[in-house]
Amino acid sequence: MPRIDLDAKHCAGHALCNATAPEVYDLDDNGYCLPNSTVIGEALRPAAASGAGACPERALSVRDD
Ligand code: SF4
Repeated sequence: MPRIDLDAKHCAGHALCNATAPEVYDLDDNGYCLPNSTVIGEALRPAAASGAGACPERALSVRDD
């Protein structure tokens, strides 16, 4: 199953991950990505990858467990 890893120290709150793939990426009250590590269904992999690619800080990655 795909897993999203967030390198929180690099997340700058641009919110582009959420704007690109709101079904995958949630934001906290300050616009920072949540949570740090999440296993998602295979069907969400393309959206997760698009959202990760939209992050200007390269804070997100999609891996396989
Ligand atoms: S796009 Fe990147 S920097 Fe912006 S909230 Fe999402 S993970 Fe954080």
